[in-house]
Amino acid sequence: MSYVALYRKFRPQTFDEVSGQEHVTKTLKNQVRTGRLQHAYLFVGTRGTGKTSVAKILARAVNCEQPDDGNPCGVCDSCRRIGDAVSMNVIEIDAASNNGVDHIREIIEEVQYRPTDGQYKVYIIDEVHMLSAGAFNALLKTLEEPPSYVIFILATTEAAKIPVTILSRCQRYDFRRIDVDTITARMRYLTETEGVRADEKALRFIARAADGSMRDALSLLDRCIAFYMDEELTYERVLKALGEADTTVFGKLTEAAVRGDSGGALRIFSSQISAGVEIGQFIGDYIMFLRNLLITATSSPEDAAAMIDASEEQMDELRGLASGTDPETCMRFIRILSDLENRMRYAANRRVLAETAVLMLTRPESDRSADALVQRIRLLETRLDELAERGISPAADGPAEKKDVKPRDTGEVLPDAAPEDLRRICGDWKRLITSLPSSILKQQLLENAHPQYNAETLENRLYVEFGGGQQETAAAVATSDDWRQEFVKHIEKQYGIHADVEFHVTKDRPAGLRTVDVDRMIEALSIAVEVEDGMDDEDEF
Ligand SMILES: [Zn+2]
Repeated sequence: MSYVALYRKFRPQTFDEVSGQEHVTKTLKNQVRTGRLQHAYLFVGTRGTGKTSVAKILARAVNCEQPDDGNPCGVCDSCRRIGDAVSMNVIEIDAASNNGVDHIREIIEEVQYRPTDGQYKVYIIDEVHMLSAGAFNALLKTLEEPPSYVIFILATTEAAKIPVTILSRCQRYDFRRIDVDTITARMRYLTETEGVRADEKALRFIARAADGSMRDALSLLDRCIAFYMDEELTYERVLKALGEADTTVFGKLTEAAVRGDSGGALRIFSSQISAGVEIGQFIGDYIMFLRNLLITATSSPEDAAAMIDASEEQMDELRGLASGTDPETCMRFIRILSDLENRMRYAANRRVLAETAVLMLTRPESDRSADALVQRIRLLETRLDELAERGISPAADGPAEKKDVKPRDTGEVLPDAAPEDLRRICGDWKRLITSLPSSILKQQLLENAHPQYNAETLENRLYVEFGGGQQETAAAVATSDDWRQEFVKHIEKQYGIHADVEFHVTKDRPAGLRTVDVDRMIEALSIAVEVEDGMDDEDEF
């Protein structure tokens, strides 16, 4: 069977056959019908949205001997000659390959000759943003005083690269990404016409993968048909033929990972790999998805739309997901997966490596990096809030206490805390307090206190400052020496280091202290800082 690519075979022949760009085709039809044509059009839109198809239809329509409601008839001499690409009236230029000034000049010299037959000479310049500055200037001269029988149609994916002087002389039309329903409906029509059996889910998957481009959708469909000649196109077969992951899967995987659902996340990953998705591609696509999610979560809707190349359906999905995912978690996922990408290059068993990474996503406690720490702090804060609401002391069932911790030898001499250790303790404050086997009152006092260290003297001493309304209580309850000792021991147990601890109230604060609180730490981490070596084994929880 000799096969003609669907995109060529079913290229729309009239404005009415163009899918998803009714706002453009309706206006153009009206212009043809009423004879109110422009001399320069600019068609802007991402690839495969129909710019060239519409340009060709317009070229035929303006020359058609018997247009039908603004559409070209397709049967008159002119329509046929243009359709067969033998007409002298339609000149197509690909600016990507002919962008020099000489080439444009040559073409423009032709402009002065009237068409030998038909009414209009139509110049279609594709990828017009690729023209050189000189070529644009040459073109501009013609656009300033176009002969009455000339129409320019400039098409581009990047309007921002077109000089304002050119823009101002064109009537601009923006071609939209085509939605999934429209692409699916078109493919449904084509497969039925061609006698290809395809299930709805398969077609919808292809439509989503094409991301708004009809041309991409049809070439993906071609690939699938070629792969499964004479067999029904099912969702599983399409995944296999394209070696691509279903992007809805990324959303589900992210949700499972954020929930800490290891089994669910692994199942989602495995189902894709078993369906034939290539692991490297899956990971690469997933990183891109997380990048988009991160931008959605941290930027204004306008900025996000400008930075993310995705259809409206995908943007909706991202916005929904972004509301339930915090940016730090997103960054942690990206880091884990980027590491994975690097390691997979030299690995024999890529699948095992990838599965391990998927597990790491779901288990921040097994990850020692800074952003995992932040995620753990976040989880703890949530947990603390919940416990506080229920009036329960976190230490009573605090996860840190469940672990079988071997008490350190009383005789053991622990190393003194270095400034980095003090900073780490400050950054780790809430977790440290949660694991403190103390009364809820002391815990609350400490939780609201500010841990500090002296960055000037670098002395081995942790300063804990009680401020605000709690100063009185703190002075009475928390500053007893017994309790101070208890706290020193707690730090020793948690970190395996010794630090002197001094409690004070705000008004008695010694000079030169530096505070590191959780929010500041998160701020610092978001521009990628250290704390890389993590914590001791015994503070897993
Ligand atoms: Zn015609």
